[in-house]
Amino acid sequence: MSNTDYDLFVIGAGSGGVRAARMAAGFGARVAIAEDRYMGGTCVNVGCVPKKLYVYASEFGKAFEDARGFGWDSSKPAFHWATLRDNKKTEISRLNAIYRRLLTGANADIIDGRARLVDAHTVAVGDQQYTAGKILLATGGWPHIPAIPGSDLAISSNEVFDLDYFPERLVIVGGGYIAVEFAGIFNGLGAQVTQLYRGPLFLRGFDPDIRAHAAREIAKTGVDLRFEVNLESISRGPDGLDLQLTDGTQLTADAVLYATGRMPHLDGLGLENVNVELTEFGTIAVDEHYQTSEASIFAVGDVIGGMELTPVALAEGMAFARRQFGEPGQEVDHDFVPTAVFCQPNIGTVGFTEEEARAKYGHIRMFKASFRPMKHTISGRDEQTFMKLIVDKASDRVVGVHMMGPDAGEIIQGIAIALRAGATKAVFDSTIGIHPTAAEEFVTMREPWTED
Ligand code: FAD
Ligand code: NDP
Repeated sequence: MSNTDYDLFVIGAGSGGVRAARMAAGFGARVAIAEDRYMGGTCVNVGCVPKKLYVYASEFGKAFEDARGFGWDSSKPAFHWATLRDNKKTEISRLNAIYRRLLTGANADIIDGRARLVDAHTVAVGDQQYTAGKILLATGGWPHIPAIPGSDLAISSNEVFDLDYFPERLVIVGGGYIAVEFAGIFNGLGAQVTQLYRGPLFLRGFDPDIRAHAAREIAKTGVDLRFEVNLESISRGPDGLDLQLTDGTQLTADAVLYATGRMPHLDGLGLENVNVELTEFGTIAVDEHYQTSEASIFAVGDVIGGMELTPVALAEGMAFARRQFGEPGQEVDHDFVPTAVFCQPNIGTVGFTEEEARAKYGHIRMFKASFRPMKHTISGRDEQTFMKLIVDKASDRVVGVHMMGPDAGEIIQGIAIALRAGATKAVFDSTIGIHPTAAEEFVTMREPWTED
């Protein structure tokens, strides 16, 4: 539609929106992108990037202790929250500016402000209206805090990075990625952390051995991990926040972090003005080419649900731009998407869990290893690495690899390439290891743990 202001109007400059806008502009489309909060979206501002910086910060405490066994006569230096927080802010501002330059460099127009759909081809930002041949919704997600008495006193991952005080006593509610990662971060930084999970074992969706191993290892690091319990109410008390738990106990905390999932970010988007249908989960329903039930409107990233991960949003944004404005072809393949939980030590995982593999393939062989990392033979730290391979018995193909141990995220990224290439257990076995590493264990596991 060349009689419109733009060929493509993107709402939301996060991982998916920015990638789609840049690529579409690169294919010659006339592109605008609206953003009302921060360039780069959740990942850059209140997600992956600041989270990983805080993970690095939190690992130093342990490193100072571990160094002693190696001859370093160190005492643990003091930690200054304000220094970390402010250095993080500086780095994020640098990234915001880079994102802005990437977009303008690609000839996309940036429109600062909240965008609202007016009709299937028109978007309003403030008083201004813009028409476009196609509109891409890439508005991401927003933390969901369940309503309990006093829940307005709790914070979410949106606030936790920029607290103006260090929460010496932190209670975290939830048992997913964010809860587990932030328990590790604040525990490592020296806070007294209590993590509450409503079910019998956290990290639902991960392999059962990883979940059990993670519970043991995280408890060893000093996090007070409590299962089968939830928060009933929060109120202000004389010494902080008073918390009533469902098991009848009480806690007092400086802050309560809710990490209980994210909802699609649809507030004020003007969906009532168009024919865009939602799924039963409240996410935007799309077909395999990210098209909604309104032919000119598309959606990618967290707002369509599925795997809420930055690399997935990026891949969807690219596939959308290619198909609509460039060379269609390479679609997003959601098989063997690797993922990591940046707890301490990391969890890295790719492919099927034990239950999923058994359901899909029937007969599987499993290989497991658990050992003390070489570094801790001298540091004295009581930490175990765990690794697991799941093999389809009929084809010998490795269909699941799970690890909890130092740098598991880095290691599993490489393994994911092998799994996508269809590597069999025989290929793993014939691969020469790198010695001495933890990762070499993946190519030396000879005896199945179980076979069925
Ligand atoms: P977003 O990045 O959320 O971008 C959406 C953008 O749209 C936002 O900037 C928002 O302000 C804007 N917007 C919304 N509505 C409007 C509107 N009406 N008008 C204008 N702008 C609007 N993923 C990983 O892969 N690895 C990690 O380590 C990781 N860590 C995470 C840690 C945390 C604490 C959180 C919360 C998430 C983490 N994620 C991680 C998930 C990752 O951040 C998301 O999957 C990713 O950001 C999704 O990208 P998106 O483009 O769909 O949405
Ligand atoms: P998750 O969906 O991972 O976990 C939510 C947790 O909250 C679950 O343990 C869930 O329990 C629990 N929960 C839900 N509702 C309630 C309730 N009413 N009361 C008590 N507990 C409740 O969400 P997160 O918020 O941790 O993270 C959102 C998404 O962001 C992740 O799914 C992931 O895709 C992405 N992310 C990725 C990261 C990475 O790649 N490293 C890091 C951080 C986030 P139950 O299991 O019983 O339902």
